[in-house]
Amino acid sequence: MKQYTLLIFTFFSCLMLAQKSTLVHTIEEYNKAASSLTPGDEIILANGVWLDAELLLEGIGSADAPIKLSVEEKGKVSLEGQSYLRLAGEYLHVEGLVFRNGYTPTNEVISFRKNSKQLANNSRLTECVIDNYSNPERHEQDSWVALYGKNNRVDHNHFEGKGNRGVTLIVRLNAKESIQNNHVIEANYFGPRQNLGSNGGETLRIGTSHYSMEKSNTLVRGNYFDRCDGEHEIISNKSDQNTYKDNVFFECIGTLTMRHGDETIVEGNVFLGNKKRNTGGIRVINGQQTVKNNYGYGLTGYRFRGALVVMNGVPNSPLNRYFQVEDAVIENNVFVESEHIQLCAGSDAERSATPINSTFTNNTFYLSEPSKLITVYDDISGIAFENNNVNFPLAKEVSNGFSVKKMTLIQDENGLLMPKIGRKIIRPNLPENLPSKDNTGTTRYSKADKRIAFDSGKLHKVSAGMNTLFDAIKASAPGDIIELTDTADYTLTKLPLVKHPLTIKAAENAKPTIFWEKKAAFDIVNGGELVLKGLSFDGEYAPDGSGNAVVRTSKYSMNKNYSLVIEDCHFDNLDVNHSFDVIKVYKNTFADKIHISNSSFNNITGHVMALDKETDDVGIYNVEFLTLHNNSFTNIQGAVLSLHRGGKDESTFGPFLDVDHCTFKNIGYGSRNKYDAAIQLYGVQDIQIKNSIFEHTKDIKMHLVVGEPIVNVSHLALERKDQIKVTGDQAYTIGDLFTSSDVVKLGTDNLPLGTKK
Ligand code: CA
Repeated sequence: MKQYTLLIFTFFSCLMLAQKSTLVHTIEEYNKAASSLTPGDEIILANGVWLDAELLLEGIGSADAPIKLSVEEKGKVSLEGQSYLRLAGEYLHVEGLVFRNGYTPTNEVISFRKNSKQLANNSRLTECVIDNYSNPERHEQDSWVALYGKNNRVDHNHFEGKGNRGVTLIVRLNAKESIQNNHVIEANYFGPRQNLGSNGGETLRIGTSHYSMEKSNTLVRGNYFDRCDGEHEIISNKSDQNTYKDNVFFECIGTLTMRHGDETIVEGNVFLGNKKRNTGGIRVINGQQTVKNNYGYGLTGYRFRGALVVMNGVPNSPLNRYFQVEDAVIENNVFVESEHIQLCAGSDAERSATPINSTFTNNTFYLSEPSKLITVYDDISGIAFENNNVNFPLAKEVSNGFSVKKMTLIQDENGLLMPKIGRKIIRPNLPENLPSKDNTGTTRYSKADKRIAFDSGKLHKVSAGMNTLFDAIKASAPGDIIELTDTADYTLTKLPLVKHPLTIKAAENAKPTIFWEKKAAFDIVNGGELVLKGLSFDGEYAPDGSGNAVVRTSKYSMNKNYSLVIEDCHFDNLDVNHSFDVIKVYKNTFADKIHISNSSFNNITGHVMALDKETDDVGIYNVEFLTLHNNSFTNIQGAVLSLHRGGKDESTFGPFLDVDHCTFKNIGYGSRNKYDAAIQLYGVQDIQIKNSIFEHTKDIKMHLVVGEPIVNVSHLALERKDQIKVTGDQAYTIGDLFTSSDVVKLGTDNLPLGTKK
């Protein structure tokens, strides 16, 4: 017996000795340590910055003794430059890596494969961070984490700030070794992802249309999605038998979309739109989908990004189009203050297959201000409605299966507002501990917002003179305010680069005028954002050559979105040579918003702004929200605006244009105005033009392309009836968009306009 014990002891000692833990300081040391790994081995990256580290972790670990890659101290090791990681083998465990300050030279920062043949199985990625690790080329595509193989687990990681095209986390099914994979994606923090302004900004995608008939069996559970605004699909499900359970979507613009694949379960998720614009919930396509016990609050999105969207399909759909909704079970969901439930959405000549054999049961909807709630785009007889509750009467076409009940709202233990009917709180079955910013991701990495707000920094008072403004901009920090204190000339002989959020404004009672001698007064470069307030711009000293501007974006790709705000400013004498624009943007740049108010523009040889540099017609554009309020435009040789979004892609929401209380006089008659228009809009998805006067201007042209563009034109004073020209793939006529009473002939006494406030 004694001998036997000794034997076992010796056996385990040998096993222990065989397991080596190696602290490595260089890539050479790493490669040496990684060259032959056996179960239980661990490689530890030493503290510090690892630059251009191309790591391969390959080996066969075991369930009890995985092969580990970790760090000396969490938070003190970062992989930067052109670093990336590949995993291949069995039972690999990666923990604590941080990727930042760079981007992968490959297609995937962390790949669960070495090549198409050698995949990783039974492996785990935990407490890792990928933060702003974005290719500087905005439309160069890569993914941050790509799952291949089977039985892998991605948990407690932090992914934030992907600025270039490509899915943040992707599950690939492109080999039989990767289907029925049983991957688990849980407790991760998916931090803010900016609007890409294009398809390809999904935060999570499982499968592709090509493999959408395969079973994936991936579980996505307990994750926190924080302002994932990349595109219309926060999650794009594209394979069979996946489960999305107990996740929280906080102020995300987009929906959990069952784009392809059947038998998806969407259960116990919380969608908090908090009334932020375009926030959405769940979109149902394909067969045998289950949507139950989900909760939504303040979801404002409409059409495909509604709180709950059931789509029409395409009869005999090809793989990449829309399969009919069949056998859907939608039950026990609660939506509060979420206005847009869309049934048979997308119904058109192609998408004509309505949902069939589906049930819609025990769902509750509360609106403090009753609205339409449910929009029906086609025949809903294939959906059986039963025992649903609303707190106000619905239109007759959808009232069957809904009871109107008196409801109040009550806050539950998670702070969520739940409807109460009588004494009964209507609460979907949600997890006890909801995912939050605190309990997801890793506590060792800050989740504080990285985008710095305007006016959050220091105030710098600057006197008039040559380059005093240039020096102040150069010395400024993110969020600073530069205040021009003199009613005098501020001359720029050098071109300042705006590298961070910055406000430049007049001091109270001061009327500063800015002159510039380079081709622009300011360049907004990557990371830059600008507010201009109370300033006069005079183009007199701009160089005598064509193509000057006041504000330009970078000529190079910007992987960070910017905002430009212009208030109470005056632009004059932009007439040195031809084609002098106010705002000049370049391809591969994107503004979250351009807002111009209470400003005047006079004597300009170019355009006020041509936001039309994405000409590939693949659904990309230059600005999301463009607002023009209370401005006067006079003597502009070019157009005031050209705004372009080409192609028919349906992945984005914008651009949104809002023109209100503006006057346009003598616009567009320069011989170089290639638009032959005062305003040219192409593929703009939301157009509001109101309360404005067009006097001696070229036409307002609208070419309507995508889906169902919203056009609201009202209270305009025009010279000619046909001054607004509408074209498009769909047979829009002016009468469809606005009535003649919205347009008043100039010279009429009772102009419906409010003039400048
Ligand atoms: Ca997409």
